[in-house]
Amino acid sequence: MPLPASSIDKLSDHSGSYVICIACRRCTHEREIVPKSLANILGWNVTLKQACTRLRCSQCQARDFRVEIAFNRKPRGWKSNPS
Ligand SMILES: [Zn+2]
Repeated sequence: MPLPASSIDKLSDHSGSYVICIACRRCTHEREIVPKSLANILGWNVTLKQACTRLRCSQCQARDFRVEIAFNRKPRGWKSNPS
């Protein structure tokens, strides 16, 4: 169940264990970003809002996104139960 972007203030909130879901308002292209990939560039102390102003749609280059937060999803490649 996605939450509004306002659920997160700084990227470091919730120990960074969430997924940022962004959907372009122009072309509807969607992608998911882990906070770590933004923190690597901007640092963990920036707000989610600040970080999102740095993003562009990889398809149409627009900067107008719908942003949602998901806690119950793991990005591809994460192993929640390695054995
Ligand atoms: Zn787009």
